[in-house]
Amino acid sequence: MNYISTRGGAEKLSSAEAILQGLSGNGGLFVPEEIPTVSEAFIEALVPLTYEQRAVRVLKEFLTDYGEDEIEGCVTRAYGGEKFDSERRAPTRLLQDCSVLELWHGPTSAFKDMALQLLPQLMSTALKKTGEKDTILILVATSGDTGKAALAGFQDVPQTKIMVFYPEGGVSKIQQLQMVTQEGGNVNVTAVRGNFDDAQTGVKKIFGDKAFAKELAAAETKLSSANSINWGRLVPQIVYYFSAYADLLAAERVKMGDAVNFCVPTGNFGDILAGWYAKQMGLPVGRLVCASNKNNVLTDFLTTGTYDRNRDFFKTITPSMDILISSNLERLLYHMSGSADAVAGWMRELAETGRYTIPQDLLAKIQQTFAAGWADDAATKGAIAEAFEGSHYIMDTHTAVAWRVADDYLDRTGDERPMVVVSTASPYKFSGSVLEALGAATEGKDAFALLDELQDISGTAAPKGLSSLRTKDVRHKGVCEKKDMKNFVAAFAKQ
Ligand SMILES: *Cc1c(COP(=O)(O)O)cnc(C)c1O
Repeated sequence: MNYISTRGGAEKLSSAEAILQGLSGNGGLFVPEEIPTVSEAFIEALVPLTYEQRAVRVLKEFLTDYGEDEIEGCVTRAYGGEKFDSERRAPTRLLQDCSVLELWHGPTSAFKDMALQLLPQLMSTALKKTGEKDTILILVATSGDTGKAALAGFQDVPQTKIMVFYPEGGVSKIQQLQMVTQEGGNVNVTAVRGNFDDAQTGVKKIFGDKAFAKELAAAETKLSSANSINWGRLVPQIVYYFSAYADLLAAERVKMGDAVNFCVPTGNFGDILAGWYAKQMGLPVGRLVCASNKNNVLTDFLTTGTYDRNRDFFKTITPSMDILISSNLERLLYHMSGSADAVAGWMRELAETGRYTIPQDLLAKIQQTFAAGWADDAATKGAIAEAFEGSHYIMDTHTAVAWRVADDYLDRTGDERPMVVVSTASPYKFSGSVLEALGAATEGKDAFALLDELQDISGTAAPKGLSSLRTKDVRHKGVCEKKDMKNFVAAFAKQ
């Protein structure tokens, strides 16, 4: 299967090449030239399998240049062993009125692990397959969660190194501890004196610096990113939609062929787009409901057909969804319009004016599958309290946005097909906001006191990866000025 750019051109890559390259030369995103389809028998056969086995079956459909043994190796290293605190990796919890697909049982307690555990394995295997001898150095600027998930994924992966820059004093205490205690012989974490934009601008400059690329080449190193637009981050996410459906079949919540709706807390549009690929492959998916916070640019787009980022930016209690440009939407527009020229035009308008409008017939086609809604912080907290009272289920703020939007969707449409709410973070990752929603006192408590308090209320233990931070050694103490980031990269590359 070949991968092509959403903005056209002659480039045709294998999946290994697309995963190593990340972004197409013309700025477009790589998409499969054709979306493979599977039968009902394929889906039914997933029921008795483990998550890893399900993953191999689904990934094989897209990664046709990888051998089955290679995919198996990647999947085992990504999800096997003790890294996940659920034997089922991404379990589907059956509540009274809906199901919750929990994607946060990985090492950093957030859904990014589902993709960032597998991407490094796919990259490392791709290096072997393409005969690349250089070391790949992954550079990340993070405002918190992605940095840790990337570190955990790349830790000790052969022929790779990873370097994460975060704004000094600009991430939560837990997030900082998660990063600076990271183990592994190929990792570096450095604080930047500045804010997140400074760190990100610094990293972008380094990526664009041709002379520096030459200097690194002499040290047999190539820079790369672990960005959410890499195909290698999207493809692992298709698996859990199939896995959830297999779980519902096993629990007899659905019969083969019954359509299921998914409601997905959305930022960059990667998670929900993976659900769309699953539907195109033949998984019985009804509606995909796109849930946003107050940064509701996607709700407006899916309602009116106009994407407009010229608006106020809000900081919310769902920071991973505080986004005004949802990069992965470009892939959906490409597949649905079938026109790379049209996509290139809209993306040019977005870059130049901050907005674009798609034709009404295309919008109508998108709306056949996608619905949308949003919730503000108060409604989000209300949903947390409601789910706890009604189902004794404690969820994080991002999941609560989807819970609220799913409820509104049901009220509005009367669509009674089974709903799966996609849960993207452990409630312990956002203990403070969750406790406030539950009416508990949080004032004056530090991050670990909040963990304890939430454990008391829920009667479950916080994930080991979070509670163990109390006693872990700090291994990364480096701090640098903005202007010195490049020197720090050079030093780490030559190490
Ligand atoms: C990244 C993230 C999201 C948004 O997912 P996208 O694929 O960017 O739409 C939602 N919730 C949490 C907790 C996340 O970390």
